[in-house]
Amino acid sequence: MSSLKVSRFLMFALMGFYCLSSFASDLSHVQTVAQPGTVALTFDDGPSPIYTPQILDILKENNIKATFFVVGPLAKQFPKLINRMVAEGHAVGLHAMTHPKLIRLNTAQLNYEIVGSRDLVQRLIGKSPVCLRPPYGMMNKNVEEYAAAHQLLIIPNGFNSCDQQKLSVAKIAQRVVDDADSGEVILLHDGYLHRQNTVKALPLIIEGIRKKGLGFSAICYPQ
Ligand SMILES: [Zn+2]
Repeated sequence: MSSLKVSRFLMFALMGFYCLSSFASDLSHVQTVAQPGTVALTFDDGPSPIYTPQILDILKENNIKATFFVVGPLAKQFPKLINRMVAEGHAVGLHAMTHPKLIRLNTAQLNYEIVGSRDLVQRLIGKSPVCLRPPYGMMNKNVEEYAAAHQLLIIPNGFNSCDQQKLSVAKIAQRVVDDADSGEVILLHDGYLHRQNTVKALPLIIEGIRKKGLGFSAICYPQ
């Protein structure tokens, strides 16, 4: 290799290293657990045209920022809700396209579910989601490696409010408030059916967590 070719090779190698390392350091600054003294409220399976606006209203009234792990086709169907989330300071993460068990999928299917939903949300909000919450909280080495290869952080379910199990409003609120602790990530749901109890429990959850001396912070802001 001539000295010119060698220096060009070194230049491109260094540029590649710089890009990779700067991207990695960007992800290393992504908040994936709640900040000390706060909890992170997260909402899965939406957006829902019925429940998501009510949840956004309650969060706005209480000046709280949260994180929404959205399903690709619903995000596409209700772009105004996604844009409202972003405009009001909330974070948006991924919850795949068809809510599958990711551990059962091959690479082509993972491409559709994960990179497909990321591209879709990125087109809507102009920034790239950096966090994936696997549906059902199910992950394995294959899903972890796929996510890492595509610069995505996997976010576990955290504390499950069990609001999808048709618990009463009081039970959902009590469960969440009793367990709330500094740094905790709390799983709630705004999407699919029968989320009225989640909506009704949310003001009680907020009040109870504030009484414990804790605040709120969002995780997973798109980059
Ligand atoms: Zn889900």
